[in-house]
Amino acid sequence: MYELQIVSHFSAAHQLRNFKGRCESLHGHNWRVEVTVQGNELDEADILLDFGYLKKLTQEALDDLDHVFLNDMPEFSERNPSSELIARRIFQSLAPRLPGGVHLKLVSVWESEGSRAGYLG
Ligand SMILES: [Zn+2]
Repeated sequence: MYELQIVSHFSAAHQLRNFKGRCESLHGHNWRVEVTVQGNELDEADILLDFGYLKKLTQEALDDLDHVFLNDMPEFSERNPSSELIARRIFQSLAPRLPGGVHLKLVSVWESEGSRAGYLG
């Protein structure tokens, strides 16, 4: 089994309802997004997937999250745009874009250095 990981970023604002702490107030983060994929078979160039292509697919999955107020998105009108649900949302958006034989293992979202949430399918 082979594993690849790429790192991307997006910037957005959010506000966590029912949360007693600093994240209850409107604020922003520069989120670091780590995408980890796995697969068993290498292609004719002996790679699992081109890093640049994986970054492009990840960017497509991040496009509508970048530079927005996340609470305005319909899916976050009732539930909070927490790092946990953001990671799940990126996972669910990215998974169907991957080519056959490449399995999305984990999407990690860092909202600050030292604070990470992950979603495994
Ligand atoms: Zn926050």
